[in-house]
Amino acid sequence: MEREPDVLILGAGVIGLCCAYYLLQSGHSVTLLDQGAPGSGSSHGNCGTITPSHAPPLAKPGMVGQALKWMLDPAAPFYVKPSLDPALLSWLLGFASRCAWPAFERGLRAKAALLKTSRGAIESLCRDERLDCEFAARGHLTVFKSQQALDAFAWWPKALAEVGTVVEALDGQALRQREPALRDDVIGGFDTPGDAQFRPDRFVSELARRVVEMGGGIETGFEIAALKRNGETVRVHGPRGARGGRHVVLALGAWSPLLSRSIGLRIPVQPGKGYSITTEPPARAARVPIVCREKSIAITPWRSTYRIGSTMEFAGYDASLNRRRIEQLVASASEYLVEPIGSTRLEEWYGWRPMSVDDVPIIGAAPGFRRLWLATGHGMLGMSMSAGTGQMIEAMVTRRAPEIDPTPYSPGRFV
Ligand SMILES: Cc1cc2nc3c(=O)[nH]c(=O)nc-3n(C[C@H](O)[C@H](O)[C@H](O)COP(=O)(O)OP(=O)(O)OC[C@H]3O[C@@H](n4cnc5c(N)ncnc54)[C@H](O)[C@@H]3O)c2cc1C
Repeated sequence: MEREPDVLILGAGVIGLCCAYYLLQSGHSVTLLDQGAPGSGSSHGNCGTITPSHAPPLAKPGMVGQALKWMLDPAAPFYVKPSLDPALLSWLLGFASRCAWPAFERGLRAKAALLKTSRGAIESLCRDERLDCEFAARGHLTVFKSQQALDAFAWWPKALAEVGTVVEALDGQALRQREPALRDDVIGGFDTPGDAQFRPDRFVSELARRVVEMGGGIETGFEIAALKRNGETVRVHGPRGARGGRHVVLALGAWSPLLSRSIGLRIPVQPGKGYSITTEPPARAARVPIVCREKSIAITPWRSTYRIGSTMEFAGYDASLNRRRIEQLVASASEYLVEPIGSTRLEEWYGWRPMSVDDVPIIGAAPGFRRLWLATGHGMLGMSMSAGTGQMIEAMVTRRAPEIDPTPYSPGRFV
């Protein structure tokens, strides 16, 4: 029988791969299991922005009323499909109960700490390992067309100032100087110079390459069918038999809650479906990533390609590609950009964000286990929080204190 690794990682998305990288670096043997190719889940076609500026949690006072209004509009940027699914209903109730200022403040601080440490770690990782993923530290713009919407967003720079994130307010003219691709009727917004970007698909494929070069194993096409308790951890069962490790890290993204029920673990994560469309860069391409705030869409320019992405749909594990959503992305971008998209469409995509009920990731020992670790629930920011999560899991497995206080991410907070 082949020797089992020190650490078996379930899921080879950006989170599983970052855990593998840091564990290998500190001398552990590691194997990853994935039903598909590495990075073929939510880590593939996302917007690839690395944004400490997105620390404010989605669960915010006023969000429930806004979401109810949006429920009447299937084209809205945030949509909850009416459903009687008990897991979704329980998640929605839990989310609604956290739309209050004290929970918002806690979430803001927790997310900001992990985003900041991760932002630095991603830059070092890309540089030290020479990852060919178009990493660039050019900042990020958040832009508005309506004064009313801009005024209503005054809480945002204040919240970021509380956690020490630099935000610069710009009027329409200053924005266009910074980004000539914006239309004349964009009236103002913010620059967050600490943000960065990379090609997410390249980041994960480069990381997978490094993990293998460092001696890690990646077993693809292994669809885990069940988890079974094995003392302080679990064994996993799938098409080619059982697999185990001294430690097991569950990094299954939006799929995380599906397998954990059988071992009595409740992981409050729901898939938050988002879409993207990728083209060649248009002639008048944006130079920096932009969020068009009223429409909640994001545009990311790279040297090689150009992407518009977003929307947040709670519709369970619905695997259809809604064409209306894709076209809505293009229509929304054309309200802000002189030339919204390139002429050749390269990819239309959807992904399931692993949305935790409080919009804070779930990192740490699973309740009732000492060697089963959860690294999931990164929601809209899994790329941005990836390296920080990998470092935290490595420290926990090695029984060292992580660089940042792990308490706010503890899975025990839901027990
Ligand atoms: C439209 C969109 C835009 C986004 N933009 C950004 C952004 O700009 N910046 C940012 O930071 N984040 C962004 N995100 C969020 C980010 O993509 C996710 O948070 C991140 O990819 C989650 O990584 P993960 O490794 O947890 O999950 P995943 O990448 O989904 O990986 C989970 C893995 O588990 C595997 N798996 C699942 N079930 C099984 C099973 N039974 N057996 C074996 N394997 C299994 C899957 O195949 C998959 O590879 C965006 C998301 C979307 C949808």
